[in-house]
Amino acid sequence: MQQRTENRAEPASGASAGSALKIDQERLRNTFDALAAIGREDDGSIHRPAFTDKDMEARRWLVEEAKGRGLEAKIDGAGNVVIRSPHTPPDTPVVMVGSHTDSVPHGGAFDGAMGVMIALEILTAVHEAGLADKHPIEAVSFSDEEGRFGGMLGSRAVAGLLTPADIAQSTDLEGVRLKEAMKAQGLDAEQALRVARRRDSVRAYLEVHPEQGPVLDTEGAPIGVVTEIAGLFKWAVTLKGRADHAGSAPMHLRADAFGGLAEFAGEIPRLLEEHGTEAAVATIGRASLRPGAANSVPAVAEFSLDVRDADSGTLKELGAAMRRALSAIARRRGLMFEFDIIEEIEPRPCSEEMIEAIERAVKKRGIEPRRMPSGAAHDAQMIASIAPIGMIFTPSVGGRSHSAAEWTQWEDVELAADVAFDAALELSADSTKQNTEQQA
Ligand SMILES: [Zn+2]
Repeated sequence: MQQRTENRAEPASGASAGSALKIDQERLRNTFDALAAIGREDDGSIHRPAFTDKDMEARRWLVEEAKGRGLEAKIDGAGNVVIRSPHTPPDTPVVMVGSHTDSVPHGGAFDGAMGVMIALEILTAVHEAGLADKHPIEAVSFSDEEGRFGGMLGSRAVAGLLTPADIAQSTDLEGVRLKEAMKAQGLDAEQALRVARRRDSVRAYLEVHPEQGPVLDTEGAPIGVVTEIAGLFKWAVTLKGRADHAGSAPMHLRADAFGGLAEFAGEIPRLLEEHGTEAAVATIGRASLRPGAANSVPAVAEFSLDVRDADSGTLKELGAAMRRALSAIARRRGLMFEFDIIEEIEPRPCSEEMIEAIERAVKKRGIEPRRMPSGAAHDAQMIASIAPIGMIFTPSVGGRSHSAAEWTQWEDVELAADVAFDAALELSADSTKQNTEQQA
């Protein structure tokens, strides 16, 4: 512990800059606290779902905070906050550093917001040192990462993955249309199609995010270097049998839809073991039965199935195995089986170049880097379509996330900020050099 603290006390000077160039940790904490005050509920949770008043208040606050530091900031057509230094050379690929400032309903203060505050601090440090021309860095807060309207809306838009159909069809759980929610905030949803970046305009994308799981905290590791982001598929599954009287229908003559669901749930661990990698996980997070009476044999079982793995081929194999298992169970039990695909996200590897840049910055502080996959989806996954990506995880105390209990020790936030700063400096210096060479 003693040694770790000493290691952290080293100044975070960049490879190409003087020792004055470093993160202002006190300002980072102050702005983190100021942002956490927006949408904070009585129970300490943060309530800033996408395109609500509090989400937009946070975005406008961020724009003003950035402008107060002499930076250029705007809310783009997708609702993303985009921040640059006025001295950022316009034609040089930027190193984009960011995350999101929207939250799940009653979420935590760190998820997304921490990464955005670190990004702002990195950009400010470079700007104030007069080095923005040599380090083209852009800080971003993406919109609707958490999925009020499907998730990662802003990063999909920037990556050019958003379609007119997405905009036309997206609604939230209450049936509010994306178009209407954005319009109510003075935004035109169609403009989200215009924020796509060209592949060669982003040198790299870097994101700091809480792990949202227990691995780092359990191991006592202060920082994680993400190697890949798991992909997923989400299905809405329906098993249909026949409603019968719970007293008079003999067991062997029933077509009990819940029996099918229960048998499938019991098979999940085996399916993951036989067809998934070690990172494979599957969850039935929602289930409902019809008619839904204690004295009726269930005719219909509807449930969600969320399956994740870090390997693309494995994920496909898991999908096929789950389908076969459900078909076999349905056949044996006289049920009908159908499913709708709700969402599919491809797994994405982080770039080896960025993993190494992050690891260099970690090792420099006398800490052994801990490589790990991300089980949760992130904006980085979308940006991977146009740029190399890298992610840094901070420990989530107790593995808690998406609640008021979400916490990262402040010394770990500071470490992540210093490491991200070093990596961003290294990559952005390289971007300027490459561009100069191309123009020469
Ligand atoms: Zn997040």
